[in-house]
Amino acid sequence: MIDETHDPARASWIASANGHADFPIQNLPFGVFSPPDGGTPRGGVAIGGSILDLWAAASAGLFAGAARDAAEAASGPALNPLLALGDGPRIALRRRLSALLDRDGPERGRIGKLADRLLHPIDRCALHLPAAIGDYTDFFAGIQHATNTGRLFRPDNPLLPNYKYVPVAYHGRASSVRVSGVPVRRPSGQRKPPDQPAPDFGPCRTLDYELELGIWVGPGNDQGVPIPIARAGAHVAGFCLLNDWSARDIQAWEYQPLGPFLAKSFHTTISPWVVTAEAMAPFRVPARPRGADEPAPLPYLSDAADQAGGGLAIRFAVALLTPRMREAGRAPHKLSAVGADALYWTVAQMVSHHTSNGCNLRPGDLFGSGTLSGADPGSFGSLMELTQGGRAPLMLPDGETRRFLEDGDEVILTAQATAPGRVPIGFGACRGVVLGAG
Ligand code: CA
Repeated sequence: MIDETHDPARASWIASANGHADFPIQNLPFGVFSPPDGGTPRGGVAIGGSILDLWAAASAGLFAGAARDAAEAASGPALNPLLALGDGPRIALRRRLSALLDRDGPERGRIGKLADRLLHPIDRCALHLPAAIGDYTDFFAGIQHATNTGRLFRPDNPLLPNYKYVPVAYHGRASSVRVSGVPVRRPSGQRKPPDQPAPDFGPCRTLDYELELGIWVGPGNDQGVPIPIARAGAHVAGFCLLNDWSARDIQAWEYQPLGPFLAKSFHTTISPWVVTAEAMAPFRVPARPRGADEPAPLPYLSDAADQAGGGLAIRFAVALLTPRMREAGRAPHKLSAVGADALYWTVAQMVSHHTSNGCNLRPGDLFGSGTLSGADPGSFGSLMELTQGGRAPLMLPDGETRRFLEDGDEVILTAQATAPGRVPIGFGACRGVVLGAG
């Protein structure tokens, strides 16, 4: 899985890529963008502060064989055809792109002459959802989050008895997933505070975010044909950041007995780039070990290779920018940071469990991992946890306080994958501003 594209010594002739926190030449994530002149949406690759236009590069004859197949599949307004191809063509395209962008590569002169046609500044491009999302499933694999939130409802018995056997999830709403930067309208719904005898209808009073890892499905499976865990990796195309905006008051009243519905379906934000499974290869680590007092996964969720390399060395952070901070020119205030080791279940276990009943996945389906939280407040992935359900307001630098999100607040998720001796890679930001209920 590790090849020359991961070489930490490789640098790009695109100077902004070298030392770039998110998009050095070792990353090469795929996305969909419109160029500054307003052309039609098409596939591109982030490299430093630029986007390489895959359609233009393919038209210029820079690709052959499987790499050309992948580039052509990534040339349209959604990457589903690329995701459907699987890792063979995707890796061929990655290797070719890495060679073309290599500062010391033999084709530097050839592609350099085309740079004006192929490269656009990211800041001047419009970024879109990378794929048409057919289905979106949100897991609950952050065990500390499950414990923290369970404790708010069941102090003595926070984790339900199925948690360590079943990768719990609910089916989210694909139609309302939006790319980073699209504002989030505060939802209205039924609210019933404990001291109120009956519900009323109005704007959510306890709007929250959830910090999650997003997972892009590559090739799907036929209905009735489960994906064995040993082959689950071949169905995962890549990763993004995901904010599962949550209306806690609506959720608390509606969730029993069938789980979240309108408290979640109004909006979900994802980062624009598909950070491929290949790019993540150097950042594979062992899955979270099970304690002696924890049950072993059932056989269909057990795989030695997945236990050895199914974890991800990613650190995530959440920051908040309030209107007052924005007006004062302040930087966003970091609320928490947490690692992907917060996940009780691996991505392969999610894929295998999801299809274990014969359910078919399709290219461009999206998973959320579940909220990522650690054991201490500095690592909590939602305000509900950080403020103990709103009982303990957060203090912000200018003396402001927050129990939940207020209108004008912007939530910014970021993440970086790191490993000793490797060039770190990032995801790009996943951000959204809260708008009033209107
Ligand atoms: Ca969630």
